[in-house]
Amino acid sequence: MSTQYDVVVAGAGPAGLSAGMYAARSGLKTAVIEVGFPGGQISNAALVENYPGFADGVSGMELGQLMHRQAEKSGAETITAELSGLVPGGGAGGSHLLKTSEGDITATAVIVATGARYRLLEVPGEVELTGRGVSYCATCDGPFYREKKVAVIGGGDTAITDAIELTTFASKVSVIHRRNELRASVAVQEKARSNPKIEFVWDSVVEEVVGDPMVSSLRLKNTKSGIISELSVDGVFVAVGSVPSTGFLHDVLPLDESGCIITNEQMETDIAGVFAAGDVRHGSARQVITAAGDGATAALSARRYISSL
Ligand code: NAP
Repeated sequence: MSTQYDVVVAGAGPAGLSAGMYAARSGLKTAVIEVGFPGGQISNAALVENYPGFADGVSGMELGQLMHRQAEKSGAETITAELSGLVPGGGAGGSHLLKTSEGDITATAVIVATGARYRLLEVPGEVELTGRGVSYCATCDGPFYREKKVAVIGGGDTAITDAIELTTFASKVSVIHRRNELRASVAVQEKARSNPKIEFVWDSVVEEVVGDPMVSSLRLKNTKSGIISELSVDGVFVAVGSVPSTGFLHDVLPLDESGCIITNEQMETDIAGVFAAGDVRHGSARQVITAAGDGATAALSARRYISSL
Protein backbone atom coordinates (compact mmCIF):
# COMPACT_ATOMS: atom_id res chain seq x y z
CA MET A 1 0.00 0.00 0.00
CA SER A 2 1.28 3.45 -0.92
CA THR A 3 0.97 6.05 1.83
CA GLN A 4 0.78 9.24 -0.19
CA TYR A 5 -2.07 10.20 -2.51
CA ASP A 6 -3.48 13.20 -4.31
CA VAL A 7 -6.99 12.29 -3.16
CA VAL A 8 -8.13 9.91 -0.45
CA VAL A 9 -11.82 9.14 -0.25
CA ALA A 10 -13.08 7.81 3.08
CA GLY A 11 -15.96 5.39 2.47
CA ALA A 12 -16.93 3.20 -0.48
CA GLY A 13 -20.67 3.74 -0.80
CA PRO A 14 -22.23 5.41 -3.86
CA ALA A 15 -20.79 8.83 -2.84
CA GLY A 16 -17.28 7.55 -2.17
CA LEU A 17 -17.10 5.32 -5.23
CA SER A 18 -18.37 8.10 -7.50
CA ALA A 19 -15.82 10.48 -6.00
CA GLY A 20 -13.09 7.87 -6.46
CA MET A 21 -14.06 7.31 -10.08
CA TYR A 22 -14.12 11.03 -10.91
CA ALA A 23 -10.86 11.79 -9.11
CA ALA A 24 -9.00 8.87 -10.72
CA ARG A 25 -10.34 9.75 -14.16
CA SER A 26 -8.88 13.26 -13.65
CA GLY A 27 -5.46 11.65 -13.46
CA LEU A 28 -5.16 12.11 -9.70
CA LYS A 29 -3.57 9.38 -7.62
CA THR A 30 -6.64 8.22 -5.72
CA ALA A 31 -7.47 5.74 -2.97
CA VAL A 32 -10.82 4.80 -1.47
CA ILE A 33 -10.69 3.55 2.13
CA GLU A 34 -13.38 1.18 3.35
CA VAL A 35 -13.57 -0.95 6.48
CA GLY A 36 -16.22 -3.36 5.21
CA PHE A 37 -16.86 -4.47 1.70
CA PRO A 38 -17.57 -1.80 -0.93
CA GLY A 39 -21.12 -0.71 -1.75
CA GLY A 40 -22.28 1.01 1.43
CA GLN A 41 -25.81 0.95 2.83
CA ILE A 42 -27.35 0.36 -0.58
CA SER A 43 -25.97 -3.18 -0.52
CA ASN A 44 -28.77 -4.03 1.91
CA ALA A 45 -31.53 -3.01 -0.53
CA ALA A 46 -33.20 -5.91 -2.30
CA LEU A 47 -34.25 -3.77 -5.25
CA VAL A 48 -33.35 -0.21 -6.24
CA GLU A 49 -35.98 1.09 -8.61
CA ASN A 50 -35.10 4.78 -8.72
CA TYR A 51 -31.52 4.82 -9.97
CA PRO A 52 -31.56 6.01 -13.60
CA GLY A 53 -30.40 3.58 -16.24
CA PHE A 54 -31.93 0.53 -14.57
CA ALA A 55 -35.48 0.60 -15.87
CA ASP A 56 -36.35 -2.76 -14.30
CA GLY A 57 -34.55 -2.04 -11.04
CA VAL A 58 -31.27 -3.50 -9.82
CA SER A 59 -30.32 -5.20 -6.57
CA GLY A 60 -28.46 -2.88 -4.19
CA MET A 61 -25.68 -5.43 -3.88
CA GLU A 62 -25.18 -5.53 -7.65
CA LEU A 63 -25.33 -1.74 -7.97
CA GLY A 64 -22.66 -1.35 -5.26
CA GLN A 65 -20.43 -3.92 -6.92
CA LEU A 66 -20.81 -2.27 -10.33
CA MET A 67 -19.88 1.11 -8.85
CA HIS A 68 -16.84 -0.42 -7.17
CA ARG A 69 -15.71 -2.11 -10.38
CA GLN A 70 -16.09 1.15 -12.29
CA ALA A 71 -14.09 3.12 -9.69
CA GLU A 72 -11.26 0.57 -9.79
CA LYS A 73 -11.36 0.42 -13.59
CA SER A 74 -10.94 4.20 -13.57
CA GLY A 75 -7.76 3.80 -11.55
CA ALA A 76 -8.91 4.27 -7.95
CA GLU A 77 -7.20 1.97 -5.47
CA THR A 78 -9.26 0.33 -2.70
CA ILE A 79 -7.69 0.19 0.77
CA THR A 80 -9.37 -2.06 3.33
CA ALA A 81 -8.79 -0.33 6.65
CA GLU A 82 -10.57 1.30 9.54
CA LEU A 83 -10.26 5.05 9.68
CA SER A 84 -9.70 6.39 13.19
CA GLY A 85 -8.73 10.00 12.69
CA LEU A 86 -8.11 12.93 10.38
CA VAL A 87 -5.44 15.52 11.11
CA PRO A 88 -5.85 18.46 8.72
CA GLY A 89 -2.47 19.73 7.58
CA GLY A 90 -0.80 16.97 9.64
CA GLY A 91 1.17 15.52 6.72
CA ALA A 92 4.27 16.71 4.88
CA GLY A 93 3.92 20.04 3.06
CA GLY A 94 0.54 20.78 4.61
CA SER A 95 -1.13 17.66 3.25
CA HIS A 96 -3.79 15.97 5.36
CA LEU A 97 -3.04 12.97 7.54
CA LEU A 98 -5.43 10.05 7.86
CA LYS A 99 -4.95 7.60 10.69
CA THR A 100 -6.01 4.07 9.77
CA SER A 101 -5.73 0.56 11.16
CA GLU A 102 -3.19 -0.13 8.39
CA GLY A 103 -1.03 2.87 9.22
CA ASP A 104 -0.95 6.57 8.38
CA ILE A 105 -1.82 7.85 4.90
CA THR A 106 -1.42 11.40 3.61
CA ALA A 107 -3.45 13.12 0.93
CA THR A 108 -3.49 16.55 -0.66
CA ALA A 109 -7.29 16.40 -0.65
CA VAL A 110 -9.64 14.27 1.45
CA ILE A 111 -13.25 13.49 0.60
CA VAL A 112 -15.25 12.20 3.57
CA ALA A 113 -18.02 9.91 2.35
CA THR A 114 -18.39 7.63 5.34
CA GLY A 115 -22.19 7.56 5.14
CA ALA A 116 -24.36 6.54 8.03
CA ARG A 117 -25.15 3.49 10.12
CA TYR A 118 -28.50 2.30 11.43
CA ARG A 119 -30.05 3.99 14.43
CA LEU A 120 -30.84 1.80 17.44
CA LEU A 121 -34.22 1.78 19.15
CA GLU A 122 -32.45 1.88 22.50
CA VAL A 123 -34.98 -0.26 24.37
CA PRO A 124 -34.38 -3.19 26.73
CA GLY A 125 -33.77 -6.47 24.92
CA GLU A 126 -32.68 -4.89 21.62
CA VAL A 127 -28.93 -5.31 21.96
CA GLU A 128 -29.19 -8.59 23.89
CA LEU A 129 -31.37 -10.18 21.18
CA THR A 130 -29.54 -8.81 18.13
CA GLY A 131 -28.77 -11.81 15.95
CA ARG A 132 -31.35 -13.82 17.93
CA GLY A 133 -34.42 -12.32 16.30
CA VAL A 134 -33.51 -8.62 16.17
CA SER A 135 -32.17 -7.56 12.77
CA TYR A 136 -31.35 -4.36 10.91
CA CYS A 137 -31.22 -5.92 7.44
CA ALA A 138 -34.31 -7.48 5.87
CA THR A 139 -32.40 -8.55 2.76
CA CYS A 140 -29.79 -10.39 4.83
CA ASP A 141 -32.04 -12.02 7.42
CA GLY A 142 -35.51 -12.19 5.79
CA PRO A 143 -35.03 -15.77 4.52
CA PHE A 144 -34.76 -17.01 8.16
CA TYR A 145 -38.41 -16.11 8.72
CA ARG A 146 -40.27 -18.39 6.29
CA GLU A 147 -43.89 -18.75 7.44
CA LYS A 148 -43.10 -16.82 10.65
CA LYS A 149 -44.51 -13.62 12.13
CA VAL A 150 -42.26 -10.58 12.07
CA ALA A 151 -42.50 -6.89 12.97
CA VAL A 152 -40.87 -3.94 11.25
CA ILE A 153 -40.30 -0.81 13.29
CA GLY A 154 -40.45 2.56 11.49
CA GLY A 155 -42.52 4.40 8.91
CA GLY A 156 -39.92 5.56 6.37
CA ASP A 157 -38.96 4.14 2.97
CA THR A 158 -36.59 1.62 4.52
CA ALA A 159 -39.21 0.23 6.91
CA ILE A 160 -41.93 -0.03 4.29
CA THR A 161 -39.73 -1.52 1.53
CA ASP A 162 -38.39 -3.96 4.17
CA ALA A 163 -41.97 -4.90 5.11
CA ILE A 164 -42.85 -5.56 1.46
CA GLU A 165 -39.71 -7.63 0.97
CA LEU A 166 -40.38 -9.64 4.12
CA THR A 167 -43.81 -10.72 2.87
CA THR A 168 -41.92 -12.97 0.43
CA PHE A 169 -40.97 -15.12 3.41
CA ALA A 170 -43.04 -14.30 6.48
CA SER A 171 -46.68 -15.28 7.03
CA LYS A 172 -47.46 -11.89 8.60
CA VAL A 173 -45.61 -8.57 8.82
CA SER A 174 -46.68 -6.00 11.43
CA VAL A 175 -45.42 -2.48 10.81
CA ILE A 176 -45.12 -0.63 14.10
CA HIS A 177 -45.06 3.13 13.63
CA ARG A 178 -44.99 5.84 16.27
CA ARG A 179 -47.47 8.04 14.34
CA ASN A 180 -50.56 7.30 12.23
CA GLU A 181 -49.04 8.59 9.00
CA LEU A 182 -46.14 7.07 7.09
CA ARG A 183 -43.07 9.01 6.03
CA ALA A 184 -42.39 6.64 3.10
CA SER A 185 -43.03 7.77 -0.48
CA VAL A 186 -46.57 7.36 -1.80
CA ALA A 187 -45.65 4.68 -4.37
CA VAL A 188 -44.08 2.52 -1.67
CA GLN A 189 -46.98 3.12 0.74
CA GLU A 190 -49.52 2.03 -1.86
CA LYS A 191 -47.68 -1.22 -2.50
CA ALA A 192 -47.61 -1.96 1.23
CA ARG A 193 -51.23 -1.03 1.90
CA SER A 194 -52.44 -3.38 -0.82
CA ASN A 195 -50.40 -6.31 0.52
CA PRO A 196 -52.68 -8.60 2.57
CA LYS A 197 -49.77 -9.91 4.67
CA ILE A 198 -48.96 -6.44 6.04
CA GLU A 199 -50.81 -4.97 9.01
CA PHE A 200 -50.13 -1.53 10.47
CA VAL A 201 -49.95 -0.89 14.19
CA TRP A 202 -50.29 2.89 14.44
CA ASP A 203 -49.31 5.31 17.19
CA SER A 204 -47.16 2.69 18.86
CA VAL A 205 -43.65 2.45 20.17
CA VAL A 206 -41.63 -0.53 21.31
CA GLU A 207 -41.05 -0.55 25.06
CA GLU A 208 -39.15 -3.83 25.17
CA VAL A 209 -38.04 -6.68 22.95
CA VAL A 210 -38.88 -9.85 24.85
CA GLY A 211 -37.47 -13.37 24.49
CA ASP A 212 -35.01 -15.90 25.86
CA PRO A 213 -32.97 -17.12 24.09
CA MET A 214 -34.82 -15.91 20.92
CA VAL A 215 -37.27 -13.05 20.34
CA SER A 216 -40.82 -14.12 21.24
CA SER A 217 -42.74 -10.85 21.52
CA LEU A 218 -42.69 -7.07 21.65
CA ARG A 219 -44.06 -4.98 24.45
CA LEU A 220 -45.78 -2.04 22.79
CA LYS A 221 -47.11 1.23 24.12
CA ASN A 222 -49.84 3.20 22.40
CA THR A 223 -48.59 6.79 22.32
CA LYS A 224 -52.13 8.22 22.51
CA SER A 225 -53.83 6.00 25.10
CA GLY A 226 -50.74 4.86 26.98
CA ILE A 227 -52.08 1.30 26.85
CA ILE A 228 -49.41 -1.41 26.93
CA SER A 229 -49.90 -4.50 24.79
CA GLU A 230 -47.92 -7.57 23.80
CA LEU A 231 -47.40 -8.59 20.16
CA SER A 232 -46.20 -12.12 19.56
CA VAL A 233 -43.44 -12.19 16.87
CA ASP A 234 -40.53 -14.40 15.85
CA GLY A 235 -38.41 -11.58 14.48
CA VAL A 236 -38.13 -7.81 14.58
CA PHE A 237 -36.57 -5.63 11.90
CA VAL A 238 -35.54 -2.19 13.12
CA ALA A 239 -35.64 0.53 10.43
CA VAL A 240 -35.78 3.82 12.31
CA GLY A 241 -33.30 5.80 10.24
CA SER A 242 -29.60 6.28 10.52
CA VAL A 243 -26.89 8.31 12.21
CA PRO A 244 -23.88 9.74 10.32
CA SER A 245 -20.54 7.96 10.71
CA THR A 246 -18.54 10.96 11.86
CA GLY A 247 -17.32 9.82 15.28
CA PHE A 248 -13.68 10.16 14.15
CA LEU A 249 -14.26 13.80 13.14
CA HIS A 250 -15.40 15.34 16.41
CA ASP A 251 -13.38 18.48 17.16
CA VAL A 252 -11.92 18.32 13.62
CA LEU A 253 -14.73 19.53 11.36
CA PRO A 254 -17.84 21.59 12.09
CA LEU A 255 -20.78 19.18 12.44
CA ASP A 256 -24.50 19.95 12.76
CA GLU A 257 -26.54 18.93 15.82
CA SER A 258 -27.10 15.42 14.42
CA GLY A 259 -23.40 14.90 13.63
CA CYS A 260 -23.55 15.56 9.86
CA ILE A 261 -20.71 17.47 8.16
CA ILE A 262 -21.52 20.99 7.05
CA THR A 263 -20.49 21.82 3.47
CA ASN A 264 -21.33 24.34 0.80
CA GLU A 265 -22.74 23.36 -2.59
CA GLN A 266 -19.26 22.54 -3.87
CA MET A 267 -18.95 19.95 -1.04
CA GLU A 268 -16.24 22.09 0.57
CA THR A 269 -15.94 22.04 4.36
CA ASP A 270 -14.42 24.80 6.47
CA ILE A 271 -11.00 23.20 6.03
CA ALA A 272 -9.25 23.77 2.70
CA GLY A 273 -8.74 20.49 0.87
CA VAL A 274 -11.30 18.57 2.97
CA PHE A 275 -14.62 17.79 1.29
CA ALA A 276 -17.68 15.73 2.23
CA ALA A 277 -20.23 13.88 0.11
CA GLY A 278 -23.34 11.74 0.49
CA ASP A 279 -25.35 10.79 3.59
CA VAL A 280 -22.66 12.05 5.93
CA ARG A 281 -23.29 15.60 4.71
CA HIS A 282 -25.78 18.02 6.29
CA GLY A 283 -28.77 18.47 3.99
CA SER A 284 -28.21 15.30 1.98
CA ALA A 285 -31.36 13.98 0.30
CA ARG A 286 -30.08 10.51 1.27
CA GLN A 287 -30.72 8.95 -2.12
CA VAL A 288 -28.27 6.88 -4.15
CA ILE A 289 -28.44 9.33 -7.01
CA THR A 290 -27.79 12.41 -4.87
CA ALA A 291 -24.92 10.63 -3.10
CA ALA A 292 -23.35 9.81 -6.47
CA GLY A 293 -23.83 13.45 -7.56
CA ASP A 294 -22.24 14.71 -4.33
CA GLY A 295 -19.28 12.41 -4.91
CA ALA A 296 -18.74 13.71 -8.43
CA THR A 297 -19.02 17.34 -7.27
CA ALA A 298 -16.58 16.72 -4.40
CA ALA A 299 -14.02 15.15 -6.75
CA LEU A 300 -14.27 18.06 -9.20
CA SER A 301 -13.79 20.49 -6.29
CA ALA A 302 -10.80 18.46 -5.06
CA ARG A 303 -9.25 18.59 -8.52
CA ARG A 304 -9.76 22.38 -8.63
CA TYR A 305 -8.22 22.69 -5.17
CA ILE A 306 -5.15 20.63 -6.11
CA SER A 307 -4.66 22.62 -9.34
CA SER A 308 -4.74 25.86 -7.35
CA LEU A 309 -1.82 24.88 -5.10
P1 NAP B 1 -36.18 7.95 7.68
O1 NAP B 1 -36.79 8.46 6.43
O2 NAP B 1 -35.44 8.88 8.58
O3 NAP B 1 -37.37 7.26 8.51
C1 NAP B 1 -37.15 6.77 9.80
C2 NAP B 1 -38.47 6.29 10.36
O4 NAP B 1 -38.26 5.78 11.66
C3 NAP B 1 -39.51 7.41 10.47
O5 NAP B 1 -40.77 6.91 10.15
C4 NAP B 1 -39.43 7.78 11.96
O6 NAP B 1 -40.67 8.20 12.47
C5 NAP B 1 -39.08 6.47 12.60
N1 NAP B 1 -38.29 6.63 13.81
C6 NAP B 1 -37.15 7.36 13.98
N2 NAP B 1 -36.69 7.21 15.25
C7 NAP B 1 -37.55 6.37 15.88
C8 NAP B 1 -37.60 5.83 17.16
N3 NAP B 1 -36.66 6.11 18.09
N4 NAP B 1 -38.63 5.01 17.49
C9 NAP B 1 -39.57 4.71 16.56
N5 NAP B 1 -39.58 5.18 15.31
C10 NAP B 1 -38.57 6.00 14.97
O7 NAP B 1 -35.16 6.74 7.40
P2 NAP B 1 -35.16 5.64 6.23
O8 NAP B 1 -36.50 5.04 6.08
O9 NAP B 1 -34.02 4.76 6.54
O10 NAP B 1 -34.84 6.47 4.92
C11 NAP B 1 -33.64 7.24 4.84
C12 NAP B 1 -33.55 7.90 3.46
O11 NAP B 1 -33.33 6.90 2.49
C13 NAP B 1 -34.82 8.64 3.07
O12 NAP B 1 -34.47 9.79 2.36
C14 NAP B 1 -35.52 7.66 2.17
O13 NAP B 1 -36.36 8.29 1.21
C15 NAP B 1 -34.34 6.96 1.51
N6 NAP B 1 -34.72 5.60 1.09
C16 NAP B 1 -35.28 5.44 -0.15
C17 NAP B 1 -35.67 4.19 -0.58
C18 NAP B 1 -36.30 4.03 -1.92
O14 NAP B 1 -36.66 2.95 -2.33
N7 NAP B 1 -36.49 5.07 -2.67
C19 NAP B 1 -35.52 3.06 0.24
C20 NAP B 1 -34.95 3.27 1.49
C21 NAP B 1 -34.58 4.53 1.91
P3 NAP B 1 -41.34 9.61 12.05
O15 NAP B 1 -41.87 9.41 10.66
O16 NAP B 1 -42.38 9.81 13.08
O17 NAP B 1 -40.22 10.60 12.13
